[in-house]
Amino acid sequence: MFLKPRFPSHELLCLRSLTSRTSILAKSRQHYRNLEKGLEGETYYDEWLKTLPEEKTIILCDLLFETNHTHFQIDTLLLTPDTLYLFEVKNYEGDDYRDGDEWYKMAGDEIKNPLLQLKKSESMLRQLFQEHRLHFPMKPYLVFPHPNFFLYYATPDLPIIFASQIKRYLSKWQSRNRPLSKTQRQLAERLKTLVIESSPYTLLPSYTFEQLQKGIFCPTCSSLLQLQDKTLMCQKCS
Ligand SMILES: [Zn+2]
Repeated sequence: MFLKPRFPSHELLCLRSLTSRTSILAKSRQHYRNLEKGLEGETYYDEWLKTLPEEKTIILCDLLFETNHTHFQIDTLLLTPDTLYLFEVKNYEGDDYRDGDEWYKMAGDEIKNPLLQLKKSESMLRQLFQEHRLHFPMKPYLVFPHPNFFLYYATPDLPIIFASQIKRYLSKWQSRNRPLSKTQRQLAERLKTLVIESSPYTLLPSYTFEQLQKGIFCPTCSSLLQLQDKTLMCQKCS
């Protein structure tokens, strides 16, 4: 069951609206696209997790915590009767390769190594547990839900779940033969109370009211709606 479901972030909602209403956002546009793409991958993985039995699993999405004056964000936590799984979801497409601690796009650009990012999130979560005297076995995984992603030089020891492996991992978690205990459910509730609501990472571009296109936009395709006989109609998707 989802104890804390996922919603588009405040930042993403603002950028969505600004993208429809302005044309001055070239710089922010890439950032906006990345956020949409990230959410798409996370939501797709959520749909898979949704199929897990409610009495054996609790899922917490999109978590911002603070420990030792440092904020850190976790995409998804899955609590099962014996392990707390930490997922960092990356909706990458195309071919990447690893070279030691470095991570590259096939085109040659080096990007931030998501495995190091995962390690950091895990370490922060352990610190948070220490601070609040919580105890539970933890296991981190990097998840690549996009079927068009491939990683060269991946080895079996890496904590990675590729798109083609999701189903198998789920059936493994499904087959746990006992339900969550009361104490375990309390742990999940406790984690939920530690979540911070507003993100310090929000990056919104500056704009003025005059620059914005006024009007109401289609909730489906984001184009401007036209008024026809007291009815708002989308010309694009009807
Ligand atoms: Zn529309």
